[in-house]
Amino acid sequence: MSNFHDTPTSPKARKAHRCVACYWRIPVGEKYVQQSGFMDGHPYRNHYHQECWDCLSADGVFEFTPGECEPPERLLVAEVKQESRHAER
Ligand SMILES: [Zn+2]
Repeated sequence: MSNFHDTPTSPKARKAHRCVACYWRIPVGEKYVQQSGFMDGHPYRNHYHQECWDCLSADGVFEFTPGECEPPERLLVAEVKQESRHAER
């Protein structure tokens, strides 16, 4: 059985999703990458941060373990700010 990966699209999140690459939240209103297809005969639909998608695509080998990627730096910065540490953008 062959796998099939559809062309990714870049919709705007109407509800919050979770990025399959880093497991961080994709906030509502953010443009993310949606990619669907068939893997081992099962349909799938994955959501990615734009940054995570770019990072994975840049390798040329699109293989990863879900959750292993570094979340986008802008999210880390936002998180650090919430912890009231001084972070510069
Ligand atoms: Zn991500």
